[in-house]
Amino acid sequence: MKIFQKKKSFLKDNLLTILTVVGVFGGVILGISLRSSTDPWSKRHIMYLEFPGKIFLRMLKMLIVPLLVSSVVSAVGSLDLSLSKKIAFRSIGYYAVTTVLAVTLGIILVVTIRPGAGLSEKFGNETSQVQSVRNVLTQDTLMDLIRNLFPPNLIQATFAQYQTVLVAPPKDDSDPEKEIPLTDYTITNRYENTTNVLGLVVFAIILGVALGMMKEKGKTLLNFFQSTSEAMMVITRWVIWFSPVGVFFLVAAQVLETKSFAGLVEKLGLYFMTVLIGLLVHCFITLSILYFLVTRKLPFKVLGGLSQVLVTAFGTASSSATMPLTIQTLDDMGIDPRVTRFVIPVGSTINMDGTALYEAVAAIFIAQFRKVPYSFGQLIAVSITATFASIGAAGIPQAGLVTMVMVLDTVGLPSSDISYILAVDWLLDRFRTTINVIGDSLGSCIVDSLSKNELSKMDDIDRLNADPHELVEIAKADSHV
Ligand code: ASP
Repeated sequence: MKIFQKKKSFLKDNLLTILTVVGVFGGVILGISLRSSTDPWSKRHIMYLEFPGKIFLRMLKMLIVPLLVSSVVSAVGSLDLSLSKKIAFRSIGYYAVTTVLAVTLGIILVVTIRPGAGLSEKFGNETSQVQSVRNVLTQDTLMDLIRNLFPPNLIQATFAQYQTVLVAPPKDDSDPEKEIPLTDYTITNRYENTTNVLGLVVFAIILGVALGMMKEKGKTLLNFFQSTSEAMMVITRWVIWFSPVGVFFLVAAQVLETKSFAGLVEKLGLYFMTVLIGLLVHCFITLSILYFLVTRKLPFKVLGGLSQVLVTAFGTASSSATMPLTIQTLDDMGIDPRVTRFVIPVGSTINMDGTALYEAVAAIFIAQFRKVPYSFGQLIAVSITATFASIGAAGIPQAGLVTMVMVLDTVGLPSSDISYILAVDWLLDRFRTTINVIGDSLGSCIVDSLSKNELSKMDDIDRLNADPHELVEIAKADSHV
C-alpha cells in the first residue's frame, strides 16, 4: 500500500518532467515516421508542424528581458556592496575556471581522437557555401563584444545589438581577379535584430549597486524590481506547462528537416562523438568534482532535481529561454534567491562551457580534414578565441555556430567552412545547451555554499535593524552572562 502511495506521489511530483521527456521522444518518433512518407515535406508544411513549438518558445522569450533585468537589479541591490562584490567575484571566477577547463578538455580530445583525419575524400568536392556568414576580422568581433557591454540606448538594447560590417571596395578594373584583404574593406555597422543581453546585464548590475548604496532612498525602486521578478516567476510556472507540447513539435520538425542520417554518421559521426564525450566528461567529472570539493556532496541529487530544466534546455536549445525555469527550480531547491538571481541570468549570458568546448573541437576538426596544419601556438589561440566566442554567443539556438567564425579565423579557415558541420549542429546544440545550463546551475549551488555564512550574517543584521527590540534583548542576555 505504502509503495503504491509512494509511486503515486512520485508521479504527481514529476508529472511535468515525465510528460516533457515523453514529448521529446514522441517528437523524434513523429519526425522519423513523417520522414518515411513518400511526399517530401515542403518548408511551409514543416513551418505548420513546428508552429505550436515556436509559440512555446515565444512565450518563454517574452519573459527574458523583464526577468533578466529585474532579477539582477534585485539580487545586487539587496546585498551590501562588499557582499555583492564577493558574490560577483566568486561567480566570475567559477565561470572563468570552468570555461577554460572545458576548452582544454575539448582540445585534448580532438587532438587525440583526430575525428577529422582521413575524411577529406569523403567530403569530396562538397563546397557548399554559407552566404549569410559575416566577413569580419577577429578584432572586430571582440570589439563589438566590448561595445555591446555599453549600449548607448537602453530601449534599443532590448531588441538590437551593434555589429561591425565590412563592405568590399569596388574591384580593380585592371586586375579583377585580385583578392582584396579584409583590412582594406570599408568599415560600417548595423544594428542586428537580437536583444543585447550583455548590455542589459551590465546596466542592471550598475543600477543594482546604485540602489544598494542609496539605502532607504532606493527602497521603492528596489521593491519594484523585486516584485517584477516575483511576478515573472509566477508567469513562468504557467508557461512551463506548455513544455511537453512545445518540445514535441520543435523536435518533430527538426528531425523531419534533417537530410540523410546514414551519410551524416559516416562523415560526422566521430566528430559528434568527440563533442559528446567532452560534454559528458565535463559534466560528470570536471563539474561534479568541483561541486564535491566545495559542497562536500555528490551532485546527483541536484541534477535529478533539475530534470525538468534539463529536458527544457534540450527541447528548446536555448539557455536564455530556459532561464526562468532554472531560477525557479533552484529557488525551490533552497538556493538563496540573491545568489540564483545573479548567477543564473549572468551565467546564461556569458557562461557557456558546452559551447566553448564545442567551438574548439569543431574548429580543429575542420582543420584536420582540410589538412590545414596547426601549431601548438595556434591551439592556444583557439582556446582563447573559443572562450571569447562562447562569451559572445547569445543563449539562443545555434548561436555558437555564428561566433565560431572567429575561432576558424585563428586556424586560417574561411567562415564558409561552418557548412561542413551544419548538418549535425541542431542536435549538438541541444546537448551543449543542456551542459551550459548544468554549468550555471551547479555554479549557483557552489557560490551559494561559499557565501552561506556571509548571507546569514546579513540576514541577522537585517532582522535586527527591522526589530531593534531584539537587539535590546540580546544586549540584556549578554549583560546577564
Ligand atoms: N544554444 C546555446 C545556448 O543557448 C548556444 C550555442 O552554443 O549555440 O546555450
